[in-house]
Amino acid sequence: MSDRIKMTVPLVELDGDEMTRVIWSWIKELVLEPFVELTTEYYDLGLPEREQTGDGVTLAAAEAIKRYGVGVKCATITPNAERMAEYGLSAMYKSPNATIRATLDGTVFRTPIICRGISPYIPTWQKPITIARHAFGDIYKSSELRISDDLRGAKVELVATAPGGHRVSALVNDFSTGSSDTGSDMGVVLGMFNIDPSIASFARACMNFAVDTRQSLWFGAKDTISKTYDRRFRDIFDEVFEHSYKQRFAELGIEYFYSLIDDVVARVIRSEGGIIWACRNYDGDVMSDMVATAFGSLAMMTSVLVSPEGYYEFEAAHGTVQRHYYQHLKGEATSTNPVATIFAWSGALKKRGELDGLFELVDFANRLEAVTLATIEQGIMTGDLYALSKLPQKQKVDTKTFLLELATNLKNTGGAS
Ligand code: NAP
Ligand code: MG
Repeated sequence: MSDRIKMTVPLVELDGDEMTRVIWSWIKELVLEPFVELTTEYYDLGLPEREQTGDGVTLAAAEAIKRYGVGVKCATITPNAERMAEYGLSAMYKSPNATIRATLDGTVFRTPIICRGISPYIPTWQKPITIARHAFGDIYKSSELRISDDLRGAKVELVATAPGGHRVSALVNDFSTGSSDTGSDMGVVLGMFNIDPSIASFARACMNFAVDTRQSLWFGAKDTISKTYDRRFRDIFDEVFEHSYKQRFAELGIEYFYSLIDDVVARVIRSEGGIIWACRNYDGDVMSDMVATAFGSLAMMTSVLVSPEGYYEFEAAHGTVQRHYYQHLKGEATSTNPVATIFAWSGALKKRGELDGLFELVDFANRLEAVTLATIEQGIMTGDLYALSKLPQKQKVDTKTFLLELATNLKNTGGAS
């Protein structure tokens, strides 16, 4: 064990719940600790500990990520009424991801993991497409009204009143021009907003990530129709790019490309991938599910939260895989896919290595990813991939067998303990 890679700065480790918690400890024991002397600052975000601390542990973990710069997180339960009963909770704690995102003010980038034998539904997609979703504002923080009953025929306006009293209004719709016979004096209205600094920090996060991963950045909005709202997004992206990133992008040979959202959608489908697609809040919500499905499996999707200050939190995009956990509790071996969680660790170790100048650690993280994919490409895989894989020789194994196989392959490719 003496030649294990040493770390100099702790990685913030956020443990979680259910099946992913079980897999978390196996990953550490079987494929990390034999090679790396893991130095982590450990936070248990499992639901019992969140209850114990009144969710204080989640905030403490988010603060630790701010202190050290890099965190790795296991999937966690977001409590609902059933979970409150199941775990005897005294409060319906917020989703840990929402708490951490609010503390770090970050953008989430989701990237599919691609391997031979599992082909995306879009045959031209050779490389991953990373979706960056702006997780603030728009319809997720909007106000809506139904115009009916005693509001029939209402005149609806947007009104802005400055603190000094200056007022500007814009007509949304005058329902009184509709007819009560056809019901066109009734309907729905929506008011939504965003704020300049959030749009700017979203733009910066996307451009930083593009530089980090040396991939071009695409962004689309509908500024031909929405000449003020969508236009503001386009202008802020342009300003941030011109002021802070243009030269760096040129040096790296990558581009920032803006087009109308419908044109971007069409180009993404025709592309070979290998790009970062910055999406407005709603577009990202919808398109990330489409891209994940088209690439094959949610269990092969990684997710990283990047803050404008450059803090990183890596995780798998899937949840705690509750159904498999109940099987596990009955003593059955489950074939739960650990790949996205392995890539969360490799992503975090790689980032730690880059920040601390530990090239051995970066090399190990790259090797861990390559050998994980090679193991699947040799035909050893969990049930979800077995159902998708087109390899002629394939074998469905349980999670632990997969990890043991991976550990053997890692030892055989050098750097063994
Ligand atoms: P889930 O854990 O993502 O699992 C849904 C289904 O997807 C599973 O039952 C399984 O399908 C399949 N699946 C997901 N990950 C898999 C993997 N690694 N290997 C194989 N199959 C996988 O979603 P959920 O069951 O709806 O949610 C469970 C808990 O996770 C909830 O309490 C939720 O709050 C939480 N959650 C947390 C996060 C997070 O921490 N980031 C994200 C989402 C959900 P089959 O059953 O067909 O095998
Ligand atoms: Mg969605």
